[in-house]
Amino acid sequence: MSALRPDILAPLFRPVSALPGIGDKLEKTLSTLLIRSGEEPPARVIDLLLHLPHAVVDRSLKPSLADAVPGTVGSFRLRVERVDAPRGGRAPIRVTVGDDAGSMLLVFFHGKPDWVVRQLPEGAERIVSGAVEMWNGVLQIAHPDYILPPDKAHDLPEQEPVYPLTAGLSAKILRKAIAAALSALPPLPEWLDPALVEQQGWPGFADALKIVHSLTASEAMRGRALARLSHDTFFAHQLALALSRRQATAKPGAIHAGDGHLAQKVRAALPFALTGAQLRVEEEIAADLARPERMVRLLQGDVGAGKTVVAALAMARAAEMGGQSALMAPTEVLARQHAATLTALLEPAGLRAALLTGREKGKTREAVLSGLADGTIACAVGTHALIQPGVRFRDLALAIIDEQHRFGVAQRLALTRKGEASDLLLMTATPIPRSLVLSWYGDMDASRLDEKPASRLPIETRALDLDRLGDVVRRLGAAVAEGKKAYWICPLVEESADSDLAAAQERHRHLAELLGQPVALVHGQMKPQEKDEAMERFRSGAARVLVATTVVEVGVDVADATIMIIEHAERFGLSQLHQLRGRVGRGSEASSCLLLYKGPLGETARARLDVIVATEDGFTIAEEDLRLRGEGDLLGTRQSGVPGSVLRLPPPSIETIERARDDARLTIERDPSLAGERGKAIALLFHLLSMGAALDVLNAG
Ligand code: ADP
Ligand code: MG
Repeated sequence: MSALRPDILAPLFRPVSALPGIGDKLEKTLSTLLIRSGEEPPARVIDLLLHLPHAVVDRSLKPSLADAVPGTVGSFRLRVERVDAPRGGRAPIRVTVGDDAGSMLLVFFHGKPDWVVRQLPEGAERIVSGAVEMWNGVLQIAHPDYILPPDKAHDLPEQEPVYPLTAGLSAKILRKAIAAALSALPPLPEWLDPALVEQQGWPGFADALKIVHSLTASEAMRGRALARLSHDTFFAHQLALALSRRQATAKPGAIHAGDGHLAQKVRAALPFALTGAQLRVEEEIAADLARPERMVRLLQGDVGAGKTVVAALAMARAAEMGGQSALMAPTEVLARQHAATLTALLEPAGLRAALLTGREKGKTREAVLSGLADGTIACAVGTHALIQPGVRFRDLALAIIDEQHRFGVAQRLALTRKGEASDLLLMTATPIPRSLVLSWYGDMDASRLDEKPASRLPIETRALDLDRLGDVVRRLGAAVAEGKKAYWICPLVEESADSDLAAAQERHRHLAELLGQPVALVHGQMKPQEKDEAMERFRSGAARVLVATTVVEVGVDVADATIMIIEHAERFGLSQLHQLRGRVGRGSEASSCLLLYKGPLGETARARLDVIVATEDGFTIAEEDLRLRGEGDLLGTRQSGVPGSVLRLPPPSIETIERARDDARLTIERDPSLAGERGKAIALLFHLLSMGAALDVLNAG
């Protein structure tokens, strides 16, 4: 269990319904928005506070219509000149408004004429704010966000933060809820080095939150507030890394590998020969396991490089002296797939693998828990469910974390702490340049699987304008009729998970209709069982096209899928595109990948897609990405395990990470057990960021 939360934070860890104006129903809606996978509802006050805006809209009043810029939000004081409200029919209501500089149209589709006339009486002055467009040479705003009489001008926010929303939740209600949460903030002591805070001109933590949620703060103030919060998260992350390193070296490890006889059995049963890289990495891990020090090793292997087999061999090694192993994956779908693969791989060695996710309940769950506790289950495979308090191992020798960047350092710690002296293997398919590995993970051993199985055929990759969608669907139809299988990845829609979903459902309907074929659909808001069923239909071929929302859902291995189509490829990060493409080209058939983009593309966007077309080497792609976009994106800050992502902060610069690392090192040097005043304040930070588990290391001594 994590260290006790100090009382001062209690108001922030109550359910949101403890706030005035929030009832059970709103609490439910807020929970859908705020609760991340692996956490339990209801959403708490702190979750609301840490729900940061993804953009800020400047609504300050423009001097005149001459300052209107199509494609941006504008606010103007205008006179209502004429209301055209066609009776009947489906024509929109158009209101002509203007000032000395000119006029514009306010357009209402499906509007009620009475309402429009009441809001905008002819001859009256109104403050109007909304997205300005140019349509047939005329300026217009469709459905203004604000229409206010001049005496209500103060209701127009100057700097309006824009938040991700969810169905049934308006921006207005969310803002009110956040305001209530802000007033619950207790005064907090400073946990950062005061000299650093002063030098950077940063506000305190509570003030920083108030500023980023504020309707009036200047851009400069917001920038400093975000920088402060960014430093807070990276500082906590680096501190947790430093603490876990201390744990790793302070307590003796144990010798965890035997003579190789079980690993040999696993290897002998493989239907293929290991690649040179797999052999090398296998040996590196075996040597680590055999050493009395604890292993902390990062295994980087490009997608399709065959990390799972390497994990299976390590698990077999750990079992040779009676130790258990656990592999934790970020999603239910991945955990299930790993469980199936590992069960088959480990079976020849007589080792039992069992699955544990949030879905194993009742008797099944009991059986797994007791098997892990008495050691009859050698290998556990699961999701966050593995680190829940009720899970006990007889002797966890090896902890493996797949897609490790999706987990926070506290979760990694929580898994290793299930064992007395467990070794840790972190796996990632996101190739990260060496310089970043160092600043990100600190001093950790790293292995690279830099060679793909020789049987792999190159994937023919092309970029195509979305204009050609019709052709693409026709050709897809022909390919599917020949028995081929295709993934169709839907665009990322930044605003909210709901719009992602809508886009996917729309595409799913559209493809099913045009192809006249069963098409499967997976998206993040499906129940796990529905996801499994959809995946299974695709795997079995009952549906030969799979429409999917995000990268998350396709971390899967369907060897006979040969076509990957990515819609709005320009919206994805390079490493995401590379990962997605890696889902095909796994079998013996030639594969292809189509990057559908919305033109015209800017120079950088074009260059980015060209990189994917030109190479399949993940490390080259990572280096190019670094060159084209800066380091931040590589860390996949939108992924949940990365500090900063919780707060949806902009990608960090190397300087941010390094400053945080130096600050963390210094802090630990000065006060190794964080017992001083500053140490106690830092404990508050850990709790606020849901990293309480990091403190257990201290308590464990
Ligand atoms: P990743 O590194 O992306 O996790 P996987 O472990 O899922 O890759 O492996 C991808 C596919 O390649 C699997 O179907 C696996 O069975 C296969 N594979 C792994 N190693 C080899 C090998 N040495 N030769 C041929 N196929 C292999
Ligand atoms: Mg994998």
